[in-house]
Amino acid sequence: MKSMITDKNLYRQKAKELVAQMTLSEKAGLCSGSDCWNLKELERLGLPSITMMDGPHGLRKQIGVTDNLGIGDSVPSVCFPTASALACSFDRELACSVGRAMGEECVQEEVAVILGPGVNQKRSPLCGRNFEYFSEDPILSGELAASMIQGIQSTGTGASLKHFAVNNQEKRRMSVNAVVDERTLRETYLRAFEIAVKKGKPYTVMCSYNRLNGTYCSENKYLMTDILREEWGFDGVVVSDWGAVHDRVLGIKAGLDIEMPGNQGFNDRKLVAAIVKTGPSKGHLSQTTENQKPSLEGLSPTTENQKLSLEDLNRAAERVSELILRSMSEKKTDGGCDLEKHHQLAIRAAEQSSVLLKNDENLLPGNKNQKAAVIGAFAKTPRYQGAGSSKINPIKIETPWDAFMESGLNAEYSPGYSLLWNKSKGSFLKQTQIKEGANKRSKENTFRQSEQDAFIQNACAAAAGKDIVYLFAGLPEGYESEGFDRTDMHLPEEQNRLIEAVSACNPNVVVILMGGAPMELPWIGKVKSVLLAYLGGEGVGKAVVNLLLGIEVPCGKLAETWPLKLEDCPSYHYFPGGRLTVEHRESIYVGYRYYEKAERPVLFPFGHGLSYVDFTYSNLETDRKTCRFGEMLNLTFSVTNQGNRAARETVLIFAVHENEVVFLPKKELKEFVKIHLNPGETKQISIALDTAVFGYYNTLIKDWYAPSGTYQILIGPSSKGCPLTAEIHMRSPNLPQPDLRQRAPSYYRLPKNEMIIPTQEFEALYGRTLPIGDNRVSRPYTMEHTIEDIRHTAIGKIMNWYADRLAREAARAEEGQEGMMAATFKEMPFFSIVASDEKIISERMMEGILDLLNGHNIRGLWKLLNKE
Ligand code: BGC
Repeated sequence: MKSMITDKNLYRQKAKELVAQMTLSEKAGLCSGSDCWNLKELERLGLPSITMMDGPHGLRKQIGVTDNLGIGDSVPSVCFPTASALACSFDRELACSVGRAMGEECVQEEVAVILGPGVNQKRSPLCGRNFEYFSEDPILSGELAASMIQGIQSTGTGASLKHFAVNNQEKRRMSVNAVVDERTLRETYLRAFEIAVKKGKPYTVMCSYNRLNGTYCSENKYLMTDILREEWGFDGVVVSDWGAVHDRVLGIKAGLDIEMPGNQGFNDRKLVAAIVKTGPSKGHLSQTTENQKPSLEGLSPTTENQKLSLEDLNRAAERVSELILRSMSEKKTDGGCDLEKHHQLAIRAAEQSSVLLKNDENLLPGNKNQKAAVIGAFAKTPRYQGAGSSKINPIKIETPWDAFMESGLNAEYSPGYSLLWNKSKGSFLKQTQIKEGANKRSKENTFRQSEQDAFIQNACAAAAGKDIVYLFAGLPEGYESEGFDRTDMHLPEEQNRLIEAVSACNPNVVVILMGGAPMELPWIGKVKSVLLAYLGGEGVGKAVVNLLLGIEVPCGKLAETWPLKLEDCPSYHYFPGGRLTVEHRESIYVGYRYYEKAERPVLFPFGHGLSYVDFTYSNLETDRKTCRFGEMLNLTFSVTNQGNRAARETVLIFAVHENEVVFLPKKELKEFVKIHLNPGETKQISIALDTAVFGYYNTLIKDWYAPSGTYQILIGPSSKGCPLTAEIHMRSPNLPQPDLRQRAPSYYRLPKNEMIIPTQEFEALYGRTLPIGDNRVSRPYTMEHTIEDIRHTAIGKIMNWYADRLAREAARAEEGQEGMMAATFKEMPFFSIVASDEKIISERMMEGILDLLNGHNIRGLWKLLNKE
């Protein structure tokens, strides 16, 4: 530990020395990429270019054509379960091993930083990128992310914790303003980042695209400097999400060090100009020798807020240099990179992440001597990863069907549905299709219907008379992706029909579900068993078959609540918000914190997950009955495996406190532990529980606070069943608490039916008037607008047509990606379009287009014709 700190000081010292020798242009250049994935080399000073690549559930190192949306090819690497799956393992060690394996692959491929893990909060099951995020519980997300970072960085590869912050939807992700009150921000949306930063110490943090309370995250000093660095002690580099920079100068001032991808010098020149124009008062120009003088041609005059001090740029350049120095000297693989070993780890991770949701009459485990039907195209073409920047080129895919065959199972296969029917369900495409003539669709539907009927008949024929039916279902690839959100929680209709029909001809149906986020399961009462694999990575087929046939015992537990239906979700009325803002009116009531307080029934609660054995809990003791807020509390209790097989159990530890003044959830997860027990074994578990996590964020004292009083500790296997309880008395200083009982009563007694919070109550919590959330787009059009915003104008129509064309072309290169591509092109603000390729469309050209849109035709044409 000591030597690491000394090394850090050395890197810092060396970085300072190097930056002192750099010209202004070199410093600015070092703070942005040379292309999509690399930083610039500074040969003169011995600084090589380093590479950053996606993440976060395997390495996606691109070859040839580079893009950041999962389109181009990448080097084969092991695809691990996505975060939504891995979280169900509740296993820090496993997350660390997965991180270490990814780190080893990065070392082999000479990648300095892997872009992950992602710890954004699962606010709604609809977020298209939920598969990349861990949990609805920030403590679970933060702890697993911290372990994964430790694993990655144990190889000398840097991690990039993303996307900081409140980026929990894809809709208008590049511009939407997330409106969140301070308490909710700290407790719900920043908590996982805080834990991961403090415990994991990532080399880098990636800022998100969106705005938070009015300010782009890429220029949000409150987030990047006040909280991240000053409060949490982060001493690494902040890198922008790809194309997230809105104002480069403000970004540097606010604490954003690296802009990715490269800006072809466009923003680098702005940084230099801002310093030069700020004036020589601090003597900084002496560092720019005559022949290194930057060219300022073509730059608009610098306004007051475009002034930049040399200290700010130096600070960023020093941090980047330090990252490069660190990456040069800390690489280690200890024994190299064994991809086959990583593949086996991927299988083990998928086994421990799959959740047995239902198992009536102990239908599972099945055995290989049963006569079985295997139904569903996912059995041969499993869904195992998400779409977008995280898309891996796996080294091999274990399909369930192959694994069944290897096991010697006597099975008949029937596809049940075609995966071609649902290639794309991206929201934009759906909208376009709706407009594109109902006639064509109705013909297609009739054809589709008869095709479906034939598939279902064949599946029923295969299922009839079999001892057991393994039916694979879930969300097809086009249903969820980076770039757009789902609009419902439905499975494809043909799959629902298939399950209903098959369960009518065979009583012993097991449904194996694949997909990145909760789905509505209208047929749940008609099948005996359900095994949830989420997106289990390349080993998913082998893993589920091991679980189905009882070679392994399921131990995953849900890291998020599965609601009965979308309308039950607390964010239902506020997700994904309007054109301008997304209000987080439900406040801290996300996931089980809402369902429990509102007493709303759910399909499966947080922590739910069955096993093939039973566990009993006993003998809870605490080492004291009274403690001060922030002290450690020692708990001991015993868990017994009552079954005749070795198995793993996750133990959840919740705390409950009733506070009259401040609204609180019924209970909150404070700790969790995963244990392994042999048949009949009893283990005594000892846990040191940090009572600092018992507090809520008190906005009056700007700190965490747990008032004096009684706190109950609940221990058990899920949020719904906690057999062990204990009470402690907390002693804290008596401090003021925010009392909103009069002004925002709904938060104390949640609305009985729908979660609707009146504007004035949310304003009372938010502490100011709400910004305008939606309005008709009209002149003046600015760099902040998008192609989607101007679709009603003549220029907008042309741009939309062109964006559709580009999306279709991209989709030809990578099937099923039109939804994501269309959303990306159309929701990209104009400033980001300029930064993404200034050679294709320069800032001046874009200004010309905006002038035309705003009716200044002559000025607009002039700018378009005189591009420079
Ligand atoms: C995504 C990031 C990703 C980056 C690079 C962005 O569009 O939001 O998560 O790391 O691209 O591919």
